[in-house]
Amino acid sequence: MKPFNVTEAEAQVEFRRGRGWIFDKPCIFCGGDIALNYSETMNIYLMERCVCFRCNYWCERMERIGNPNQIVIGHSMYQDSGDKPNAHEHRGTVGFMGFGGHRFYWKMLATGEIRTSNDLWSNGKIPEHFRSNFVPNAEWSTKEEYDLSKEDLNG
Ligand SMILES: [Zn+2]
Repeated sequence: MKPFNVTEAEAQVEFRRGRGWIFDKPCIFCGGDIALNYSETMNIYLMERCVCFRCNYWCERMERIGNPNQIVIGHSMYQDSGDKPNAHEHRGTVGFMGFGGHRFYWKMLATGEIRTSNDLWSNGKIPEHFRSNFVPNAEWSTKEEYDLSKEDLNG
């Protein structure tokens, strides 16, 4: 039995703490609990770095800063798995593609290059305490702008 003034979430945290499933130090990025309910390798990795699973996800993306396939638009991040122009000819393929194979266009801010892909994946919204690490490197564009930029190259 838990005391009536302890919420279900708090009781869960206390239970896990009691079982050693929460690291005794807070996450160095968000200050939250570091839950240790992953594989042994992952648990050790999180404890060594003193980082929670969610912040670790963004740490991994910090290591990829500069990779042109990691796209930051506003506060959101996307990963381009590479355009697959013939995907629609292969039945079932689009179901395993980002956004169901929807085609996106975006402009790289550094070069002005407009890129397109039908295999873009969302990495989610960048948490506030990580935003200073991820400077937007792109903005949304359109098919019209893309076509125009290709004409410029050829003309
Ligand atoms: Zn964290």
